[in-house]
Amino acid sequence: LERLRGRLARSRSTFGQGLLGLLGAGDLDEDSWTDIEDTLLVADLGAGITDQIVTALRAQLVSRGVRTSEQARALLKDVLTESLYPEMDRSVRALPHSGKPAVVLVVGVNGVGKTTTTGKLARVLVADGRTVLLGAADTFRAAAADQLETWGSRVGASTVRGAEGADPASVAFEAVKQGVTAGVDTVLVDTAGRLHTKTGLMDELGKVKRVVEKQAEVDEVLLVLDATTGQNGLTQARVFAEVVNVTGIVLTKLDGTAKGGIVFQVQRELGVPVKLVGLGEGADDLAPFEPAAFVDALLG
Ligand code: GDP
Repeated sequence: LERLRGRLARSRSTFGQGLLGLLGAGDLDEDSWTDIEDTLLVADLGAGITDQIVTALRAQLVSRGVRTSEQARALLKDVLTESLYPEMDRSVRALPHSGKPAVVLVVGVNGVGKTTTTGKLARVLVADGRTVLLGAADTFRAAAADQLETWGSRVGASTVRGAEGADPASVAFEAVKQGVTAGVDTVLVDTAGRLHTKTGLMDELGKVKRVVEKQAEVDEVLLVLDATTGQNGLTQARVFAEVVNVTGIVLTKLDGTAKGGIVFQVQRELGVPVKLVGLGEGADDLAPFEPAAFVDALLG
């Protein structure tokens, strides 16, 4: 938790501490409520959830008879945690472990941290005793395959790659095929994130998914989102969610943003839980998303 606090420092100082200060200040007038609302909006929670949270805070402040700053903190913690999806097993360890490979597609726009996330994920799985094969189907970005291979050799996973500019679907197909033959536990496929047109994306990702499914079920489609991109990221995410059946979100770069409130908005808007969060560039900087711990860390 200490580490999470440290990584969320920017969001904590603007958003968590700001809310605590406002709510804990005693008698709240309309201006204070407006400030609370603004704090939530600035942190990227979005209008709908902000309304809902403010309404809940106003009602419960009275019904609970909140007087002290500890009571204000407890109230905030409950209301914020409730507005996130309930606790569930979000860990990738919950992936099937059946001898046939579990297949995970990692999708998202270029630069959001797909390749890094795929590498970190491989590390978590290998540390958990699984055999992992990486598929470098991001053939669009020249360095992506090298980058993934570096991650692979660091964590002990082989990488299947194609020639530069190769058809992403053919690389994904080959990776899953080799994964089936070798009997690995998990195949992680890093995909290309060209978002030129929705049809282009749909064609490409759709094809990747189709060819993979010729050999194995796709167990998880993780959509990687950069927390620092705010509304723009959310718009892109909607396009992906329309194109593929996203099963979980990985929210990266939470360490670099003061707008950690995007977590609250993203899963509500997309109807998909945030499963993992990226808290830095290092190998250990991927964590399962736990609502209560997250809110705790935000409130300091
Ligand atoms: P891709 O194009 O989506 O595959 O993006 P990359 O994996 O190459 O990542 C783009 C940049 O974001 C790299 O410099 C990564 O080190 C960085 N990055 C990825 N995840 C995180 C994170 O959680 N926190 C921070 N601070 N940087 C990250």
